[in-house]
Amino acid sequence: MTTSSFPTIQKPDIKEMKVAPNLDYDKVRGNFDWNEMYGELDWLPGGGLNMAYEAIDRHANGRNRDKLAMIWEGKNGEKEQYTFGQMKQLSDRFANVLKSIGIEKGDRVFVFMDRVPELYITIFGILKAGAIAGPLFSAFGPEPVKDRLQDSGAKVLVTQPDLRRKITEIIPELFELQHIIVVNKDNRDPEPILSSDLSYEEEMAKAPPNFDIVETSQYDYSIMHYTSGTTGKPKGAVHRHQAVVQQYATGKWALDLHEDDIYWCTADPGWVTGTSYGMLAPWTNGVTQLIYEGGFRASKWYELIQDYKVTVWYTAPTAIRMLMKAGENIPRRYDMSSLRFLASVGEPLNPEAVVWGQEVFGMPFHDNWWQTETGAILCANYACMDVRPGSMGKPIPGVELGIVDDDFNPVPVGEDGNLAVRPGWPSMYHTYWNNTEMYNSKFKKGWYMTGDNARVDKDGYFWFVGRADDVINTAGHLVGPFEVESALIEHPAVAEAGVIGKPDPIAMEIVKAFVSLKDGYEATDELRRDITRFSREKLSSAVAPREIEFIDSLPKTRSGKIMRRLLKARELGLPEGDTSTLEED
Ligand code: ATP
Ligand code: MG
Repeated sequence: MTTSSFPTIQKPDIKEMKVAPNLDYDKVRGNFDWNEMYGELDWLPGGGLNMAYEAIDRHANGRNRDKLAMIWEGKNGEKEQYTFGQMKQLSDRFANVLKSIGIEKGDRVFVFMDRVPELYITIFGILKAGAIAGPLFSAFGPEPVKDRLQDSGAKVLVTQPDLRRKITEIIPELFELQHIIVVNKDNRDPEPILSSDLSYEEEMAKAPPNFDIVETSQYDYSIMHYTSGTTGKPKGAVHRHQAVVQQYATGKWALDLHEDDIYWCTADPGWVTGTSYGMLAPWTNGVTQLIYEGGFRASKWYELIQDYKVTVWYTAPTAIRMLMKAGENIPRRYDMSSLRFLASVGEPLNPEAVVWGQEVFGMPFHDNWWQTETGAILCANYACMDVRPGSMGKPIPGVELGIVDDDFNPVPVGEDGNLAVRPGWPSMYHTYWNNTEMYNSKFKKGWYMTGDNARVDKDGYFWFVGRADDVINTAGHLVGPFEVESALIEHPAVAEAGVIGKPDPIAMEIVKAFVSLKDGYEATDELRRDITRFSREKLSSAVAPREIEFIDSLPKTRSGKIMRRLLKARELGLPEGDTSTLEED
């Protein structure tokens, strides 16, 4: 069984493709050895490995020195461009700033900034100094910032004036914090910085433009990311420099990055997608990328694709659903002909959305699956492969995925089970900061347990079922919310749907759906009956929602994931738990 009633989208004829795909899956998958890929990296002169060197310096030292690395557009329309050579020099300077204030290998340096160029320069400076970079999403309020800085014991915080003011009250509680460095880009902020803080601009001006990268080994820690908090309190997943080999490989294979691409990843570096694929994958591949500081607006996004001639676009299901909600007429007003490859991550991508890509842009969105802990993509739809809408594709070469039962033994093909990964993939996280116990609890009978449920079909395509916590047990049937939500959003009035199990004395749980409507539709009983009828036609009666409630918008994390646990807590009048990553309306 698949979750999709949509037909397979055949891959285009190679002759019709603008460029041939980098990956021939069937050829590479069979006998792949990560050592080959390690051989495509440059490594440090002393034999170590450093992400910043692989992403920036190796291009700056070679023929790509004057190639554009970053094309930046600010939220007020400001425009800037940086070559690999300039990125090297600026990140060298920032590494010198950190050295001058005593930062050493393994120290935590956190970054709390909007998507300004200085954010990217800072992260690479931190990596060059051998420190651990901790990016924080700039929309966080004081409490989430305090929790993360306390937990990590950060010594330095790099931020900007408005965000610095937002967190003033928590600073006295950060006992390990030694310095705050404030970036005041173009003097955007008229208020002077506090005398106890360091000015980024002044420190950068004093710092020498060359830095000898601290000799990090592939096993040294590089970046730590707190997870999205979709299922509970965010955990600090810590990565090592060697993750870069998989970020490089998957940029090449799953995003099909080619030298002449203009790549746009819409994720914020506060989340792992924004560093693994908003910094490391494109730049290790020597590709030019667009960074847009502003937020979501359908027409603006299409304008960016048109104006910068974006070729490869990596975004998320929530954004795609918002574009769908805005309608097909908007993209028709722009020239989308530069687009060559579309990809999505972060949540299950409804088949409806995959097919919408095909209709509007002439190509499907390629869904891929991974998590903060995995550091890089583990399962993907590739340019070289037919797309089955609703499937997250096939494992990355060199990665073994399994579907196992609750005793951690493999289940037969086609059956639902726990999605597990054979440990040892290069970008695997190495611990949860201050929580080794929880880290250890994720490994069972030789598998890393992802916490997600999925199935694999006989042709090796993986299908996401739901997070293990969200799976519903109704009258003896196990129901994944994704299947129900995907059926609901095929109804013309439905923009988004979130599905939970509601306790029931007879069925154990019943399927309840929260539905938000597209503009122009009214929440009437008649529409509810129509959606119910529609869902019963699409799904078996055991699976179709017994209750449908209209809701203006679904609770989501700031990275756009539907928080089903909140829908459930609110429905049952239970405490909401950690809401530090909840997006405000
Ligand atoms: P937390 O672990 O704090 O609850 P989170 O799991 O949402 O938050 P992330 O690591 O950002 O934090 O998200 C990874 C999860 O997102 C995956 O485990 C999976 O549940 C979901 N996900 C990501 N990509 C996909 C995809 N393509 N299809 C289905 N689910 C996906
Ligand atoms: Mg998780």
